[in-house]
Amino acid sequence: MLMVIFMLEIKNLTVKVKEKKILDNFSLTINEGEIHALMGQNGTGKSTLCRVIMHDDDYEVTSGEILYNGKDLTKMSTTNIAREKIFMLGQNPIAIEGVTNAEMLRTSLSEVAAEPINIFTFNQKMEEICRSLELPLDFIHREINVGMSGGERKKNELLHMWMLEPKLIFLDEVDSGLDVDALKIVAKSINDYYEKYKPMILIITHHNNLLEKIRPHKVDIIKNGTVIATGDYSLAKKVEKEGFKAFNISGLGNNE
Ligand code: ADP
Ligand code: MG
Repeated sequence: MLMVIFMLEIKNLTVKVKEKKILDNFSLTINEGEIHALMGQNGTGKSTLCRVIMHDDDYEVTSGEILYNGKDLTKMSTTNIAREKIFMLGQNPIAIEGVTNAEMLRTSLSEVAAEPINIFTFNQKMEEICRSLELPLDFIHREINVGMSGGERKKNELLHMWMLEPKLIFLDEVDSGLDVDALKIVAKSINDYYEKYKPMILIITHHNNLLEKIRPHKVDIIKNGTVIATGDYSLAKKVEKEGFKAFNISGLGNNE
């Protein structure tokens, strides 16, 4: 019998966009049940990594593999990647006019469900999640991210996450633009989700405020498209105290 090992293995990934190399021999492994944080200066390729994982056609993988439970995501369509229960919360969540949260979520869930969606339990769950995120219940029938503030968009995307129940999650600057209260709610929501489903999570952030509430198992530092340091949570504290110059390794460029 084939044993499936639950993990994400990004191996020697090199990615170009418009002929410019962004990720360069990037490697990262997330084991089952691990929360990772990825930190690095602006423009080092963090959001690019998320887009490549979801197979955005603008990005050309020139070498390397992204293996999720043994399947190479670089060879799969975005739809099939989503069917694997992989979820990305983008740095700037886009608004989709004319489609409500409930419509999109019901459609997505019915794509993968074995049985028809029970509208009563669906609504009940939506309400419960809205309450936990301190979102008004009318968000259930709001058009996706339309007219929502930056902070509301982040919470709205977490509402999607809770409904879709992904196993591998990318949170790209989920904390940017949040006030202190919203940051607490968002951190609690992520921690509660982790406790309930034990997914693999990659958190991209510039700030230790979120990480001290979530306590990732591992922290990776990216520079010029390559992981230059890996460690435990203490690395995030080092970034906060000393900045990225603490990781100045000769030969890896200098965009300080
Ligand atoms: P960050 O680490 O801040 O998230 P990004 O991954 O967004 O960085 O971007 C890395 C570099 O790649 C930047 O120089 C950015 O301008 C460039 N880049 C990313 N996506 C595109 C694109 N679609 N077209 C042109 N340049 C891009
Ligand atoms: Mg980014």
